[in-house]
Amino acid sequence: MPSAVAERDPDTLHDGLVGAREILRRTFGHQEFRGLQGEVIAEVLAGRSAMAVLPTGGGKSLCYQIPSILRPGLGLVVSPLIALMTDQVAAMQQSGVAAARLDSNIDPAEKGEIWRRIEAGELDLLYVSPEGLMQPWMLERLSQVPLALIAIDEAHCVSQWGHDFRPDYRMLGRLADLFPGVPRLAVTATADERTREDIRRELRLEQSAEFVASFARPELILSAERKRGAAHKRVVELVTARSGRSGVVYAGSRDNTEKLAQALRDAGVPALAYHAGLDRQVRIDRLEQFLQADEAVMVATIAFGMGVDKPDVRFVIHADPPGSIEAYWQEIGRAGRDGDPAEGITLYGAADMSWALRRTGERDVDPAVKQVQAHKVRQLYALLDGAGCRAATVRRYFGEEGVEACGQCDLCTGQVDLSDASQAAQKALSAAHRLAGRYGRGRLVDHLLGKTKDVSDHEAALSTWGIGQELSANAWRDLVEQLLFEGLLREDPNDGRPLVGVGDADAVRAVFRGERKVMVQTRHEAPEKATRKTRKGRETVTASPADQPLFEALRAWRSAEAKSQHVPPYVIFHDRTLTEIAQAKPGSRAALEQINGVGEGKLARYGAAVLGVVAGFAG
Ligand code: ADP
Ligand code: ZN
Repeated sequence: MPSAVAERDPDTLHDGLVGAREILRRTFGHQEFRGLQGEVIAEVLAGRSAMAVLPTGGGKSLCYQIPSILRPGLGLVVSPLIALMTDQVAAMQQSGVAAARLDSNIDPAEKGEIWRRIEAGELDLLYVSPEGLMQPWMLERLSQVPLALIAIDEAHCVSQWGHDFRPDYRMLGRLADLFPGVPRLAVTATADERTREDIRRELRLEQSAEFVASFARPELILSAERKRGAAHKRVVELVTARSGRSGVVYAGSRDNTEKLAQALRDAGVPALAYHAGLDRQVRIDRLEQFLQADEAVMVATIAFGMGVDKPDVRFVIHADPPGSIEAYWQEIGRAGRDGDPAEGITLYGAADMSWALRRTGERDVDPAVKQVQAHKVRQLYALLDGAGCRAATVRRYFGEEGVEACGQCDLCTGQVDLSDASQAAQKALSAAHRLAGRYGRGRLVDHLLGKTKDVSDHEAALSTWGIGQELSANAWRDLVEQLLFEGLLREDPNDGRPLVGVGDADAVRAVFRGERKVMVQTRHEAPEKATRKTRKGRETVTASPADQPLFEALRAWRSAEAKSQHVPPYVIFHDRTLTEIAQAKPGSRAALEQINGVGEGKLARYGAAVLGVVAGFAG
């Protein structure tokens, strides 16, 4: 739980939060603070800087939005991506908060108006990019304006140990000197101990309180499987089994996103490809399509995601594995932001691991950084290919203590059998040795089975030819994969036609001497898939069959409203809020205001329309 550094008196905390709670209820329509929100807000309201590490969906934005509204002056939010700012500003405006963003896309006339509002003290929140903010003229102009606070969103971008390092973030340390009296709040969802230290040092927050919430995401149901056979086929299978829901499929290359999206469309799935190689306007259109839809699948490279706050993403599938555990948690974490159950499914292979290690080795960075990055790759594959609860492994990785198994991931619900395959491993290693790294995996397996097509006399005369009849081709393929994971075999990329050779000599010798065992896993799924649906997290809210027509009517109204305003539907109301309305069927404004997610601004804007839709169903 929290590891807040500063000591504070509970009574002061309480007093300081009266105003904040009022805003939480009136403006945002939420009843209570979630997790550490209250503590973080109290710290900033007291004028002190802080760092907050809260999980995705934990409500980081309120931590700076509420103090920006309450404290005199302008709240400045530094955010790495325009998409992130656009979404938040739209959501703020819906709630009646005076918010704007300044970035290169804003036209001059609008810019002038925004500056007028800033200087007249009319604006509560201003979103800027780090490059934008650190321009001398911008700093000069802002120094004339009273500031409520400076929030640094996605603060892990400041650290080169993290996975999203953005050199522009490094400049933000200067804010401490430039705006000495202004509290600064760094927020992020992912940061291990080392990254956290780095953030504090870079942003000059060494003396400030640090709030670290649990990394638990009980709504996420995790699983991972080794790639087998045609990768696209498996992804199509996984996605079509989840039809009617929105999801994200991450693929490792631009080309792959296009091909996968096409394969999915061929299977009748409304899938879109998204990557940095697409024309800007195409990207904007596809993003909008994805955000607007109640059912859409985005097949994307990691260029897609940061700042995409679509709350009803029900699954994230990695067709190719992520780059690190941080990236895993952040990418998977884009599912289930509304707190309802969602799945994270990862496909991975030994080839992905060796590719990631090779890329790390080739990077033009400090050797110490390289070493850390290679270690991170290994930790990721230990998680994916391991046998212990996935959620617990991630949380321990982030430094949480006393973590319990989640009870719902594939490893908690299924069963992993380990069997000793050391003898078969010796055969495979000898064969690889005899074939001297001239062939790929398929040929190695054929060799073991004695099924090599047009085998040469030389190969047929080798003592290892056909010595592996006791196992099936699939079993050999799995074993070869395992040996690659363990570094006992190594794959030479050979321009896309990888060749298999013997790996670490000492380790291989140990296998032959019987000092090292090779264990293979067989994973069995839980017999009852349904058991996975029992969750420990927040209560799922779904409209009962009787309330379904009203829910659909509310969704249709929201959809039309969103279209006419050019905003995503969820900035108007979340599904969860519509579900509660469909259940409660409020007959008055006072009753409607009781519903979670209905604040004053939205009541004024949409109260009459929503009550109208509900009334249409009353008679
Ligand atoms: P993140 O930490 O991922 O940036 P956000 O700030 O986007 O999370 O919040 C995630 C969602 O949780 C938002 O839709 C927000 O409205 C909701 N939320 C935030 N705080 C609360 C709260 N105290 N009670 C209920 N919902 C909340
Ligand atoms: Zn588990």
